[in-house]
Amino acid sequence: MLVMKFGGTSLGDRERIDTVVSLIRGRLRRKPVVVCSAHAGVTDLLLDGARKAADGKPDLTAIRRREHELLTSLKLKPSLVEADLERLDQMFRGLALLGELTPRSLDQVAAFGERMSVKAIAAVLRRRRIPATPVEADEAGLVTDGRFLRARPLPEAYTNLGRALRRVKGVPVVTGFIGRDKDGNVTTLGRSGSDYTATILGRAIAAEEVEIWTDVSGVLTADPRIVPSAKPVERLTYAEASELAYYGAKVIHPATIQPAVEKGIPVRILNTMDPDAEGTVIAPARGRRGGPRVTSIASKRGIRLVNIVSGRMLGQSGFMAKVFDAFKRHDVAVDLIATSEVSITVSVDDAEGLPAVVDELRAYSKVTVTDDASLVAVIGERMKTAGAGLAGEIFRAVGAAKVPIQAISYGATKTNLQIVVPQGRERDTVRALHAVLFE
Ligand code: ADP
Ligand code: ASP
Ligand code: MG
Repeated sequence: MLVMKFGGTSLGDRERIDTVVSLIRGRLRRKPVVVCSAHAGVTDLLLDGARKAADGKPDLTAIRRREHELLTSLKLKPSLVEADLERLDQMFRGLALLGELTPRSLDQVAAFGERMSVKAIAAVLRRRRIPATPVEADEAGLVTDGRFLRARPLPEAYTNLGRALRRVKGVPVVTGFIGRDKDGNVTTLGRSGSDYTATILGRAIAAEEVEIWTDVSGVLTADPRIVPSAKPVERLTYAEASELAYYGAKVIHPATIQPAVEKGIPVRILNTMDPDAEGTVIAPARGRRGGPRVTSIASKRGIRLVNIVSGRMLGQSGFMAKVFDAFKRHDVAVDLIATSEVSITVSVDDAEGLPAVVDELRAYSKVTVTDDASLVAVIGERMKTAGAGLAGEIFRAVGAAKVPIQAISYGATKTNLQIVVPQGRERDTVRALHAVLFE
């Protein structure tokens, strides 16, 4: 069995959807399970609509128009998604009455994009004589924890989904992105979460492979919007792909690799606009001979650097434990750590719980927070055997681009060298590094 996931752009218009149908047709013998995102732009329209509704202006026009235009272009009846639009309309009215928008209602609203797209895609397949059934993943047992906007599957999700998919007639066309917590609330796996759904399903059915179909020919050596000349990477290890996604390469959701690792399932990134291109295979490290020292460069903006200076001695046992315990209790993930004799610097991406951590740390240390930083990550498992020359090349390139470095970290996995730079300079940094490492 095979999982085929199609992202929003691959489902954005009739032409793309025609390609999707022929790709599925070509793989029918491998018993594909199809995972769909919302059509391009729909999730943004939904979230925007929810915000406006909570501001007292419930308006479904833009969403209705987008869905109707698409269905009409596919020669399908708009009534196919009418029940979903009705429910959405009621929700928007409810939000307008309440005048507030919680993470819980954001997830409930966002889920409609996928609910509507699977109905459209299953209907298109059936019309082209490919038996298919739309499946809403939350109905099919994708139970998650209750963390709205970034839910994670619970262990029973895999057995539930495996069982549910076995009963589906024809090709299952499953909603990406969405799940449901134990209390029955709709949750989402976070933006781009359909990639994650694809590997969750892959693990649930013990798929031979998970294909992620998108609008680029694989994982590239850098974000093509920053480096237009970036080239596809032929092969990545699970560790490299996880780190790349975690450190900002938007091409896959950061958690995508986890379920695949557990069953050793290869994940292939492919291009719907160029289906014959090789793409990128993400697979266990075994059998990887040679290969480049660095495989790719990623970056993310909006990083905060927290510097913690101990009043007494940092080296005293217990200080570090106390600091990191505060981060843990407030659920703030730390990306990079650098220490000196008297201070610790950490970088934080999701700053929601940070003020509470800082308050706590200030009880026994001096804390400064620098906003507006960016993190650039140079990734490659073979960096560890590349020798000293590589670090020299990297820092010379950053220096030549006149980018000041705020923090550096290397060594934890040796798969990844991270540099923190002022926000706004990450693009120059990525370009300079790409030029020396790949061009
Ligand atoms: P989909 O709608 O198929 O899920 P996304 O827009 O979420 O597609 O992800 C694909 C996009 O990710 C590409 O169009 C590209 O702009 C961006 N991207 C960022 N970094 C990388 C990278 N290293 N390799 C490939 N694509 C990247
Ligand atoms: N539709 C969701 C989003 O736009 C999930 C996804 O596309 O993977 O984030
Ligand atoms: Mg995506």
